[in-house]
Amino acid sequence: MAVLKSQRDPDLSDTMIEVGRRLWDRGFIAGTCGNFSARLDDTHILSTPAGLAKGRLTPDDLVVTDLEGNVISGRRRPSSELRIHMAAYRLRPEIGAVVHAHPKTVVAHSLASITLMSTVLPEAVVVLGTIASVPYETPGTSALAFKMEGALANHDAIVMERHGAITLGRDLFDAYDRMETLEHAAQTLYLSHTLGRVEALPDDEIERLLNMVK
Ligand code: 13P
Ligand code: ZN
Repeated sequence: MAVLKSQRDPDLSDTMIEVGRRLWDRGFIAGTCGNFSARLDDTHILSTPAGLAKGRLTPDDLVVTDLEGNVISGRRRPSSELRIHMAAYRLRPEIGAVVHAHPKTVVAHSLASITLMSTVLPEAVVVLGTIASVPYETPGTSALAFKMEGALANHDAIVMERHGAITLGRDLFDAYDRMETLEHAAQTLYLSHTLGRVEALPDDEIERLLNMVK
């Protein structure tokens, strides 16, 4: 059994399994792609294993690491993107969870070199803040984790060009909800672009919405 009991969420391994199922159900991940993690306590992280289908995890698949990425317990290898998760926890002491997925409409915008405008939908502004975009780097590498650092320090929703997205949250469902909101916004934008011209909200309204979350 990999899982130490979380001080924050005693049912964390159940929450991990549920989030994997939701990500797969909603089509945000396919096959073995995507990964997610949550803080167990001040020095430990519970994360998904590398190379397994995250939509059908069991508690035994989960991996406990320290904040340097050393495996403390679990029989699986930790995610190939664990360095990104570690960078997020190091740079953002207030966050409790990180979700990485490959949501189709978000990735399609990046393939077409269209920046996702978070400034057209009030819900997206409130839930996501401004969406960052990080230039392409090989998945699973320390170069990618390094490239992500600036965005991780300042954003809760980040598009990884040609690859996917990362969302951060105070807990796992909070980070998951941001991923759902991000893909929903991308789908809405895609539809609206097929219908006509899309205008951003006025600057003073964006400011008001951003201040609502502070
Ligand atoms: P892991 O299975 O190693 O977490 O990798 C999935 C992925 O999405 C890599 O970017
Ligand atoms: Zn990925």
